[in-house]
Amino acid sequence: MIRVFKFGGALLKDVRGIRQMASIVHEFKCEPLVVVVSAVGKTTNALENLLSLARKNQTTALQQAYFALKGEHVRLIRSLELKDERTLLHQIEEDFYSLWQMLEKLPKNSFSAYDSVVSFGELFSGKIAAFWLKEKQFPVKLTDARQLIATDENFTQANVNWAYTKKIIDARLVSELHRGNIVLTQGFIAAGHKGHITTLGREGSDFSAAVLAYALQADEVCIWKDVPGLMNCDPRVFSDAVKLPHVSYNEAIELAFYGASVIHPKTLQPLQKIGVPLKVCAFYAPETSPTLIDAGEENDADIPKIILKEHQTLLSISSRDLSFMAEENLKTVFSAFSRHKIHINLMQNSAVSFSVCFDENPEKCEAVIESLKDEFVLKYNEGLQLLTVRHDDGKMLQKFTHHKQIFLSQKNRTTQQVLMRPVKE
Ligand code: ASP
Ligand code: MG
Repeated sequence: MIRVFKFGGALLKDVRGIRQMASIVHEFKCEPLVVVVSAVGKTTNALENLLSLARKNQTTALQQAYFALKGEHVRLIRSLELKDERTLLHQIEEDFYSLWQMLEKLPKNSFSAYDSVVSFGELFSGKIAAFWLKEKQFPVKLTDARQLIATDENFTQANVNWAYTKKIIDARLVSELHRGNIVLTQGFIAAGHKGHITTLGREGSDFSAAVLAYALQADEVCIWKDVPGLMNCDPRVFSDAVKLPHVSYNEAIELAFYGASVIHPKTLQPLQKIGVPLKVCAFYAPETSPTLIDAGEENDADIPKIILKEHQTLLSISSRDLSFMAEENLKTVFSAFSRHKIHINLMQNSAVSFSVCFDENPEKCEAVIESLKDEFVLKYNEGLQLLTVRHDDGKMLQKFTHHKQIFLSQKNRTTQQVLMRPVKE
């Protein structure tokens, strides 16, 4: 039985988490196992911040943020009390030095710089996790994800070259597993066809696990989480969240599409294609039953699911010449959104107006407005919430839209969506 495990960075941020990861790996180490890790804690956000400070030439703030991030990693390594701490510290310090050199020589406005800088998080965490497991005598082999997952060079959101990836994985990974090694690799990062480092989109480590499972034809993927499983809503926001014992791939894809942050949206498609079940497992209670995601749709409507996306911007677009917002105008609008890499969360059109809702991002919003303003009249609202309810039981939507100003709403057989803002008292 071949398994692929993915441990998120929130779990590996301290000794307790790293120990727990090792104890879970220990339970399964007698069978072929691939372990995917993502950057520890909030490292990826911190790296994005370094990049933006470097681009703005804010040298003092950049130095401060750089040393803060380095300090966090050094403290984490020290807290592990490794026998050979010095070797690992030395490796991580070298990586930090390369990161600094990169930040000092950033090419202007290049997307590839993003991928190169941000990928350091996974390079650090991969080394730390592998080092720990090795010291604890696990037969672990750290294998660079850049040598396993091949993509195009669509930086920040690279697309996997499936055929080539499968070939490399058959050649490199399968033999390691046959030798009885546990393969540990980084999530989120890959390599483009010219060898440049690429990334698979924020929170893309789940997807990395799915790519590896697909190429290996694995028997299951387990995503370890600090929640009991896949929940019907975000337990940090809603106090009455419950665990979903079983959902279908389609239902989980829909949930991810609407913004449930538990599983990366692209993760499920490759698994569904070859029928690899995905389990969402409780990291600190591994003995409890996980959420099972597979082809069975029998439980999908059992429990209503709620997704709340904050920080939404609504842009309403109408033509200056009062022509209908039909195909020709929409073509212009969509190509502007695609050019600026803005993902549309909800859209609706009337005869003369087209409304689009997307995640707040002042820079991108300004850029898209700039490219549309000559042809269209634009109005926008910020700070909205997008509520999505699937399989409503007749109560949920009512409960959560109470005392809200509604900007837009949409409904189909399974899903209701409302763009709203709390009413000020
Ligand atoms: N470290 C990356 C991110 O935070 C990938 C991941 O966590 O899955 O976006
Ligand atoms: Mg992460």
